[in-house]
Amino acid sequence: MAQTENIYDSIIVGGGPAGISCALECHESALDVVVLEREERAGGQIPSIPSPIFNYVAGHFENGEAARKELENVANLFLGERLLTNCNVQSLDLSRKEVVTNKGIFRGKTIFLATGYRLRRWDFPVPELLAKDVLYRSGIVREELQGKPVAIIGGGDSAVFTALDLADHGCPVTVLARSEKFKARPDIVARMYQHDGIEVHTGTSVKSLSGGKRLERILAENSKGDIYVPCEKLIAKLGYLPNTELFAQQVDSSQGHIKVDERFATSAEGVFAGGDIVTPGYDRIAFAAGSGMMAARSIRCYLGQTP
Ligand SMILES: Cc1cc2nc3c(=O)[nH]c(=O)nc-3n(C[C@H](O)[C@H](O)[C@H](O)COP(=O)(O)OP(=O)(O)OC[C@H]3O[C@@H](n4cnc5c(N)ncnc54)[C@H](O)[C@@H]3O)c2cc1C
Repeated sequence: MAQTENIYDSIIVGGGPAGISCALECHESALDVVVLEREERAGGQIPSIPSPIFNYVAGHFENGEAARKELENVANLFLGERLLTNCNVQSLDLSRKEVVTNKGIFRGKTIFLATGYRLRRWDFPVPELLAKDVLYRSGIVREELQGKPVAIIGGGDSAVFTALDLADHGCPVTVLARSEKFKARPDIVARMYQHDGIEVHTGTSVKSLSGGKRLERILAENSKGDIYVPCEKLIAKLGYLPNTELFAQQVDSSQGHIKVDERFATSAEGVFAGGDIVTPGYDRIAFAAGSGMMAARSIRCYLGQTP
């Protein structure tokens, strides 16, 4: 496998807002950094945000893709070839600061971990012909779904926001939540219960999906008995998981989240982490960008430069 001779000041794993923020600050401090991003484009989860972004002080964006473009512009401008896309990290040795990727082996004096979250997939035996009718995101197909009956499984913010959004687009919506109580924000849960176009079943599990060439019906059950839900699409909103399997065993972690101190240092020497994957933390763009920035400062200090 190809091996770069260079020992980077820092190897940044993940090209979302945390990774890019850390890289920009390191670059400004004249540190030799490289960002390894497995996707074709930088931006992490940002492009999957279907709605306007109001809570990021750097600007008001029409949607996630608009914010991603700005991130990409600034990354291209200042990082250029230091941002390696289509570069999948396959394994890491945190004590040796060695990172194995499909594009070769990278060595660093420090590492910044910023691999973010991924969608939690539905662990259910969906018949093959109906698999295309089980979706994880509805934003991009919202117009196609207009007026069609849909079922949503899940009980968090994402499930409830999706239910409200699709009901406002004229879809008859049925929400099936496994728990008796919603985890979502109480204000949006109240709006959901008040919405004429949304039927809600709590304490409910799916038993089967049926249809011919496309999904037609879901059979679910709760303590009151069986429930038949006519629908054309099922949208699974089951939350997110941290992408930390490659390194969580090598550092102190809790439920897949990497423990960091106030400098965003992990328990492994010279290894820092930020963004969604850290605890304590908050899964928001501003936190990701801020933690990347703070980690860059810590990296600078670790390398013996002034804070
Ligand atoms: C639907 C939705 C709506 C949201 N709305 C908002 C909002 O309105 N406001 C807000 O502030 N936040 C919002 N968020 C949250 C916000 O997008 C995240 O908090 C933020 O993107 C986290 O940044 P990150 O850099 O930690 O991780 P990510 O954005 O997840 O980036 C991590 C990157 O690491 C890469 N990566 C992972 N594993 C590897 C590997 N092995 N090798 C190479 N690269 C790898 C991934 O491909 C990804 O590009 C929303 C999220 C979602 C999903």
